[in-house]
Amino acid sequence: MKKVILNLLIIFLLGSVLLPAAPIRVLYRADMRQDKLKTLERGPGTYFSTIDLARILSCRYYLNPERQKIVLYLTNHRVKISAQSSYVIIDDQVFQMPTPTKLVGDDIYIPAETFFAILNRVVIPGLTYNTGRQLLDIDVVSYNIVSMTVEEKTNGSIIRLQTKNRFPEGNLSSFVHDNGWFYITVAGGLADSTTLVRSDFGRTIRRVLIDQMDESVQLAFQLRQKIESQEFYQNRDPSEIVITLRTPVVDSMARLKNVRERWYLDTVVLDAGHGGKDGGTVGRKGTKEKDITLDLVKRLGLLLEKNTNIRVVYTRDEDVFIPIAERPKIANANNGKLFVSVHVNSSTNRKIRGFETYLLRPGKTDDAIEVAARENEVIKLEEQENHYSDLNGEALIMATMAQSAFMKESEDLAAIIQNHLDAKIKSPNRGVKQAGFYVLIGASMPNVLVEAGFLSNAQEERQLRRPSYRQEIAEALYKAIIEFKNSRETELAKG
Ligand SMILES: [Zn+2]
Repeated sequence: MKKVILNLLIIFLLGSVLLPAAPIRVLYRADMRQDKLKTLERGPGTYFSTIDLARILSCRYYLNPERQKIVLYLTNHRVKISAQSSYVIIDDQVFQMPTPTKLVGDDIYIPAETFFAILNRVVIPGLTYNTGRQLLDIDVVSYNIVSMTVEEKTNGSIIRLQTKNRFPEGNLSSFVHDNGWFYITVAGGLADSTTLVRSDFGRTIRRVLIDQMDESVQLAFQLRQKIESQEFYQNRDPSEIVITLRTPVVDSMARLKNVRERWYLDTVVLDAGHGGKDGGTVGRKGTKEKDITLDLVKRLGLLLEKNTNIRVVYTRDEDVFIPIAERPKIANANNGKLFVSVHVNSSTNRKIRGFETYLLRPGKTDDAIEVAARENEVIKLEEQENHYSDLNGEALIMATMAQSAFMKESEDLAAIIQNHLDAKIKSPNRGVKQAGFYVLIGASMPNVLVEAGFLSNAQEERQLRRPSYRQEIAEALYKAIIEFKNSRETELAKG
């Protein structure tokens, strides 16, 4: 009997004194990153530090030393912990633990096993604690927004949110608040705050916070500086939400000096789509896009030359093949103040008709991406095609950012063009769209691409074959350019 008691005593001593209380190992399943959660050095039982848990889970916390309380803000839950208390309060729901917490300095130590079981049930389903192995396993299988990278560019930042799936277009929305925060809301999004909530991102972003709600998640980015514009799109491969935050061009003095010269609209560059061996799309009656675009551009040019003193530059004025990359170069070399590329459309759905104007930006809808893919196909006809990079990724983002100085003006022009076409021709207004067109890349001036109608639609092909209809389109584009010029110069006079 004595021996048994002695053995028990030895076991007790080993357990409480001789075995060092190791910290809890933490494993983030998302990237297999490991960490350690601070524990109380003397047992029995494992107690961990509340403040260190806040670090591990990247959550905000509020410490009240007088009342000896700590509140953890975990996703959209408030977890209240009090010193020397067996109760944990989560969103006004009370949970009891077998032993009370312990106060050490300003920190509160919590019994691990029960607390993590409660947390798993109520707040973070992906979090499990293995008592025997002292392992906190953070497996975020249910999260669909899993990580984030931020790249600094000379005129802004590119944020990439890696996602597990593509969200429907309508599920995403964003805005910039006057208080210096940029918000993006993802309906159906479940964000892994343990990897997303961070601070110190360099020049543009101070920190990121997450507000997880039942149906959606809002990511909030605190900005270090004013941003000029923001936009986002979803990338397919890899699956990610790409957000660009553009900051004003630093060299504002140089910009101001150029404002007068830049805004005074004395040269317009007209780009007739396709030409030569590149016929563009073809209608059922054999109507070729390259012929329609050349005719439209010539009519438009004539109106400008006859009625204004604007100089008109054509990227082509006959049926010749001009490589895509040459076109914006011609525009720049001629000191153009406006670049209008004219095309006609095509769709496998022959019922679709109407006109649309495009801005150079990452494509937002499948339709827009398809149009750009078709229009970009011409590069296959060019001898050296390898100087074009993939326009769905980095290259397009960079091209878009390089044009930030003209983006607002391009938007205005596109809207004005749509208005005038709407007033002039009987065809559905399909609105202003955006996609990656090689032909717009590198044009150092406001630029748009007009798709004036669908050759794939029998009715619209008939209309486009009529000179009077093409004249109407040319007149609408002419009026749009005049309105754009006047609005620019009115602003210029004010300044
Ligand atoms: Zn075209």
